[in-house]
Amino acid sequence: MEAEPLIGVHISIEKSLDRAFDRAEEIGCTTFQIFTRNPRTWKIKPLEADEVAAFRERRKKSGFRALVAHMPYLPNLASPDNATMQVSRLSLSAEVKRCDTLGIDYLVAHLGSHLGKGTMLGIRNVSDAVNQALASSEGGTTILLENMAGQKNSVGSRLEELTLILERVRKEERVAVCLDTCHFFAAGFDLSGAEAVDESMEVLEDSIGIARIKVVHLNDSKGVLGCNLDRHERIGKGKIGKKGMKAFLHYRGIAERPLIMETPYDDKNEMKESVAFVRSLLRRRLSSESNTRDVADRDAGP
Ligand code: ZN
Ligand code: MN
Ligand code: MN
Repeated sequence: MEAEPLIGVHISIEKSLDRAFDRAEEIGCTTFQIFTRNPRTWKIKPLEADEVAAFRERRKKSGFRALVAHMPYLPNLASPDNATMQVSRLSLSAEVKRCDTLGIDYLVAHLGSHLGKGTMLGIRNVSDAVNQALASSEGGTTILLENMAGQKNSVGSRLEELTLILERVRKEERVAVCLDTCHFFAAGFDLSGAEAVDESMEVLEDSIGIARIKVVHLNDSKGVLGCNLDRHERIGKGKIGKKGMKAFLHYRGIAERPLIMETPYDDKNEMKESVAFVRSLLRRRLSSESNTRDVADRDAGP
C-alpha cells in the first residue's frame, strides 16, 4: 500500500507553535511549513521548554511524518558584506538549533543575493554559512537549499549553482534541495505540460538528481516561463496550469515528497480547496502522452 501523500501549506504560528497542527488538520493537510519565529526581525525569542514539549506532543498525536520550517526573510547567506554575513550566519545556526529542538525535519533556506559581487563569491559564502551552521549541530534537521526564480544578483536559480554549493558542503547527509515549481518555471524550466515536465525534470535528474530533492514548494506562477519573477499563484490558476501541475506531480518520486503550497489565501476554504485539489491530481490517471510513472495505477486494483 502506498503511504498517504504529504500535502501541506505554509501555516501561521500565531499564538503558539503547536497551534500549527490544529490549523493544518482543519484544512486537510498531512504536513506543513512554518516560520519558527517572527520572520521580519533579527530578534530571536528563545524557545521555552513547555512550548517545545507541547509541539512535540502535538506532533505525535498528529502522526505527521515530515515537518518543514522556512528561514526568516532578513538573512542573506550570499552577502559579500561582512556585517550582514556574520548576522546571517548566526541566524542560520540558531534556526538549525531551533528546528533540531522542535524535531522539525527540514529547514528551507533562500541563498540570497551576491549584491553584484558575482555568483561564485555568493556560492562560496552560502556553502561556508551552511558548513558553519552544521559544524556545531548534532541534530537531525536537514538544510534545504531552495532554487530561486533568477531575480537580479540572486544565487541558486541555475542548477549548476546549487550543484556547486552541494559539492562544497561537509555534512552531505544534512544538506539537500527544496524545489520550488514557481521559481523553477520563472527561471526558464517549462512545466506547463507533460512533455515539458519530462524535459525539465530530466535536466534536473542529470545535475542535482531527484533523490536530493527532499521537499517541493508546489506553487503556480503568475509570471510567464523564464520571467525571473517570484510571483506565486494558487495551484492550477497560473501559467503552469492544471495540466502541468498534474504531470509534475506524477513525475517519478515527486508524489512521495512533502508538497507545500506557499500561496496567499483569502480564507480557510481556499486553502482547503487547494489541498483537496492536489490530492485529486495525485489520484487521477496520467494520460498516455507522458512516459512518467503512473501513480494512479493503484486505483486499478491488482
Ligand atoms: Zn522560500
Ligand atoms: Mn518557495
Ligand atoms: Mn517565492
